[in-house]
Amino acid sequence: MSIVVQKFGGTSVADVEKIKAVAKRVVDSKKRIDHVVVVVSALGNTTDELLELARAVSVSPPEREMDMLLATGEQVSMALLAMAIKELGQEAISMTGHQVEIVTDRWHTKAKIRHVSTERLIEELRKDRVVVVAGFQGVTGEGEITTLGRGGSDTTAVALAASLHADFCEIYTDVDGVFTADPRLVPGAHKLEEVSFLEMLEMAATGARVLQSRSVEYARNYNVPLHVRSSFHSGDGTWVRSEDDIMEKAIVSAVTHDFGEAKVTIMGVPDRPGVAARLFGDLADANVNVDMIIQNVSEGARTDISFTVSQEDLEKAKKLIGEISESIGAEGCDFDEGIAKISLVGAGMRSHPGVAAGMFKTLADNDINIEMISTSPIKISCVVRREAGEKAVRALHEHFGL
Ligand code: ADP
Ligand code: ASP
Ligand code: MG
Repeated sequence: MSIVVQKFGGTSVADVEKIKAVAKRVVDSKKRIDHVVVVVSALGNTTDELLELARAVSVSPPEREMDMLLATGEQVSMALLAMAIKELGQEAISMTGHQVEIVTDRWHTKAKIRHVSTERLIEELRKDRVVVVAGFQGVTGEGEITTLGRGGSDTTAVALAASLHADFCEIYTDVDGVFTADPRLVPGAHKLEEVSFLEMLEMAATGARVLQSRSVEYARNYNVPLHVRSSFHSGDGTWVRSEDDIMEKAIVSAVTHDFGEAKVTIMGVPDRPGVAARLFGDLADANVNVDMIIQNVSEGARTDISFTVSQEDLEKAKKLIGEISESIGAEGCDFDEGIAKISLVGAGMRSHPGVAAGMFKTLADNDINIEMISTSPIKISCVVRREAGEKAVRALHEHFGL
């Protein structure tokens, strides 16, 4: 018996006409596939608008209430889509994360899925209904509503696909697939036919917004093939699947960028054992994700430590870092939002030295200064000034012949 999970992003359901078009597409799929589960995002820019509203009434909105607010976005789209599907003569029912029982931890605004129950969902599918699930939201064991972080509907879709042992998961979006760079920034970027889970994970983690990185982790752990494709036409998109099934291993597959990070520098940190453990331990306890870390050579038993955090976490991080700096006896701290993180990702990098050198030279030839560097076996990231971000992406895309 075939079962597929289809996820439609915000732009795909931005207005009534688009919702009707999605409904038609879902009904067409249902004619070919035994069971169809649909996951929807909030309409258009709803989530951004809700965030703005929250900030208009509170400088630092309580995270629990933020989730109560944000979860409403997806509730609107799921109900409208279910209505539109029924209008076409296909039985459908919408369900919230709570109703499905997508159980998460308690980290409001970026909760992690702990467990997905499929009982009620399967009951509805057996009645030959299309089930439309609100993306991005879950519920804690205590019945509190949570959300899964920006882009979290991707993760809802993959988690459901894994739990239902779906054949694959389709991610319908406003671009034709996964590209060699963000097509909005690099007009010459082209669509990749296929990408391995591992490469996609690095791409998502370094800013390729098209999939939330946690959704790729899920897909990789449960071996759920993903098909990222356009919601506006029926052409093939990009398949994201196991490394073993990928024929060609490019040295560099894509250039990604993240303009949403900030650089934190703590100056004059006492250079003794335990200080870094304390600093990063406290940040981890507060669920603040830290990315690139650099510690300078020490001078007079003191050193500077720099690292990047997401701008979304910056307010929380500022308060915490101020307190920690004081208690470890540091001399001060600085927060810089004017940065861009530019990365190269490619599975073939592992066995081809010289990619990092090529990246540094390209940046140098374009007069772009590198502030931080970090690497993994299949990725190199550099932090540069935000103003140089676009230029860096385009130059690297060209240099590596993507
Ligand atoms: P959705 O609302 O469908 O979830 P998103 O806005 O979250 O859509 O993700 C799609 C966007 O991701 C595209 O519009 C594109 O600008 C951006 N993007 C960034 N990097 C890439 C990439 N390498 N390939 C494709 N899209 C990318
Ligand atoms: N609506 C949420 C967001 O804008 C979740 C999603 O679209 O995946 O981040
Ligand atoms: Mg998205």
